[in-house]
Formats: sequence, C-alpha cells, structure tokens
Amino acid sequence: MLQLPIEIHNEIVFHFVWDRPIRRPRPKPRWRDIEPLSLVCRAFRRMVLEAWFHTLCICRRQDLSIVSQYWPELPQWVRVFVCLHNLLVDYDDEWDLARFVNLREVVVQMLPFWDVIPFPCLANVPPSVTKLDMTGMGEIGPTDLEAIVKPFPNLRVLRLQPYSTWCGLCNTFTSSSFSCPVPSSLTYEGGVGLPAHFAQFLQPLEDLETLYITAKYDLLSDEEANPLLEIGEENKTMWSGECRDCMQRLYPDDSFREDWVAKKKTPAIHLPALKRVEWIFLSGDAFANETGDKSHFRPNPLHL
Ligand SMILES: [Zn+2]
Repeated sequence: MLQLPIEIHNEIVFHFVWDRPIRRPRPKPRWRDIEPLSLVCRAFRRMVLEAWFHTLCICRRQDLSIVSQYWPELPQWVRVFVCLHNLLVDYDDEWDLARFVNLREVVVQMLPFWDVIPFPCLANVPPSVTKLDMTGMGEIGPTDLEAIVKPFPNLRVLRLQPYSTWCGLCNTFTSSSFSCPVPSSLTYEGGVGLPAHFAQFLQPLEDLETLYITAKYDLLSDEEANPLLEIGEENKTMWSGECRDCMQRLYPDDSFREDWVAKKKTPAIHLPALKRVEWIFLSGDAFANETGDKSHFRPNPLHL
C-alpha cells in the first residue's frame, strides 16, 4: 500500500473519514472514530487531519485567531466552514474568512428560536464560496436577505431554514397552517416561486441557481379544514409563503386571487440564473428534529 501514489492514499483516507456516521447536529465525524488511522504513521496523521478539517466548526470569532496562531496551514484545508452562532458569541465583530482560500461552502447554524440575535458578520468571504446554508434563525424576510447575501456575491445555492415564514401579502412572519394533505416539498422552475419581495433583495446574486427554503407548518384539525388552505397537487395558487389569515381572508375574492397568482407567474424582477426554488415543508416535530437543539454542542476545533 505504501507504494501507492500519495493521491490514492489521500482518497482512501478521505473516504475513511467521511464515510463515518455523522450524528446531527454535529456536522462532522467524531475524532475518536478516526483517530486510530492517524496513529499509523506521521504521513497518515497529516492526511487524516487534513481530511477531518475539510469541515471546520467554529463557535467564537476568537477561535479563528487561535487557528491562525497555532495552525497556519489549517485554513487552506477547509472546504466547509460551519459557524455555530449562539448567545455567547461576540456578534458585533467580523468573522474574517480571508485565509480560507479554498472554501466552497459556509454553514451558519443559529440557536433555534433566538430570533433576536443578528446574523453573524462574515467578512472577506473568498470568491470560491458558492453555497450558503442558514438554519435555526427565527425569521428571514426580504430585508434580512440584504445582510445575508452581501458577503456572498458568487452564491449558486442558498438554503434557508427559518422558524417563521414570510407572507408577502401581509408582510409579516408566521407559522404556516394547512389543511391535509401537505406535500413534502414544492418545486418551482424557471425563476418563479420566490416569496414576495425576495427577488428585489436577491438581485445582487447574479449566479444564484437554486434556493431551498423551509416552511414549518401546523396541520389543521378536521374542524378547521378549509379548501383554501390546501395546497393540493395542482398548487393552483402557487403557494410561496402566504399565511393562513391572508389565504382565508383574500383568496375567496376571485379577481384578487387571480391577479395575485398572475403576478407570481410573471415576476417583475427576474434573477438571471435562478432555475429552481424548492419549498420544503416540515411539521413542528420534524422541524425540531432538523434544526436540533445545538445549545449543548460546543466543538473546539483544536481539541482533538
Ligand atoms: Zn399574510
């Protein structure tokens, strides 16, 4: 085996590390599961470390300084940067990612339900980053998008998992409510399907191809059931975030409803590269499982 080219060794080690089970919300394998391979020899230890730091989890901005001070090579290994954002962080300061020159993806996991926390300020994001995944925030409306997209001009894929859904009719955030059945997802192609006003604030993202957005919903009881609150297979109203109150109050007016749907079919602002908008529907329990309770999850990147 030692006669194999170094590239083959690297491939073997990478698959060994990343074929380990990952238990949510932890975004990478446990070190203790892969440590034995790192003890084979000096060369293997370096390969294992490089593979393991393909994903780096950081809770505090100061950890970035520690990484640079004690391990100057490490930022070059990182492809996925995970920012675990919680109440304890210094969210007024910038998280400078300039040294992560090979970064491809940024994941921000905020504590669920703490919608008062501002988004972390990520600065000098390398142009190689084309994916951003944000989970656990209370809400994301059109104006919040400005702060999110500004540091990421080259995004191709954006994934948002807010607790509340933006309704473009009443311009408020709420949990969605539907009558049965609720699809697991709705997919729109051809640049439609964005929540109202989102396109205006996503305009700077000229390369954005795909937006995934989660809608947490409550399922109405049989007594509350209402045909207006069914999405249905045909999805005649092109649901894209409208709240229960607006659908119940405004959709019985045929002319209003038809005008509203027509506007959604031909949006005023067209994002040039947008191919797909996918809404993912999660019940309250499923949403809690997806976001997880990260309050007890405090990985330290240097604590091996
Ligand atoms: Zn509404």
